[in-house]
Amino acid sequence: MIDNFKHKGLRNKLVDTLREKGIQDEAVLTAFKNVPRHFFLDAVFVSQAYSNMAFQIGAGQTISHPYTVAFQTALLTITKGEKILEIGTGSGFQTAILCDLGAKVFSIERQRELYLKANKIVPALGYNAKLKYGDGYKGWPAFGPFDKIIVTCGAPFIPEELVKQLKNGGKMVIPIGEGKTQEMLLITKNINGEISKEQLGVFSFVPMLKEVAK
Ligand code: SAH
Repeated sequence: MIDNFKHKGLRNKLVDTLREKGIQDEAVLTAFKNVPRHFFLDAVFVSQAYSNMAFQIGAGQTISHPYTVAFQTALLTITKGEKILEIGTGSGFQTAILCDLGAKVFSIERQRELYLKANKIVPALGYNAKLKYGDGYKGWPAFGPFDKIIVTCGAPFIPEELVKQLKNGGKMVIPIGEGKTQEMLLITKNINGEISKEQLGVFSFVPMLKEVAK
């Protein structure tokens, strides 16, 4: 696949759309200019890769809307070198955005097919994330605790294990809800380990399911 001036132009337009929709974080917008989203999609969707749309990525899953990725990423206020845990690698696009921001990214996916695909494309683009085929409810204790945690599937409740693996002073963004839509929660753990929660609007994600898919 190639990344040419036309794709770059379309990315700039997408960034304009994200700005109009209220994304102000310049570092996040720059990452959207850098990461070629069309590499993460099946060939049939490539011409629409830079519209604010979700697409099927296989195994019944979807790549999130660019606005949703930008919104969740901006909430985490990521700085270079931070350790981030992502639950739901999916296509690997969000993973690449986090890497582009200079984070050390650890990402878990329960669909083997998607894990295998992402594990090719992410390093092929020069991003150095650590990916795992596993159950995100368990987190990744061997590499924790994490500065930030991002959950990109709709969770029925806040997984206790993930809260445990969040550093004091850390933040987790997670969509909570069991129906078609979820409430975006920003969870902050203060320096004493106390938790506070903020509700930040309604979104629609595929569900966070238990254990790996066979
Ligand atoms: N960040 C992804 C979004 C993919 S959709 C992207 O940018 O493309 C959410 C993903 O979460 C799906 O691929 C789904 O298989 C995965 N998922 C659902 N439950 C999970 C769990 N318990 N552990 C890990 N991944 C999970």
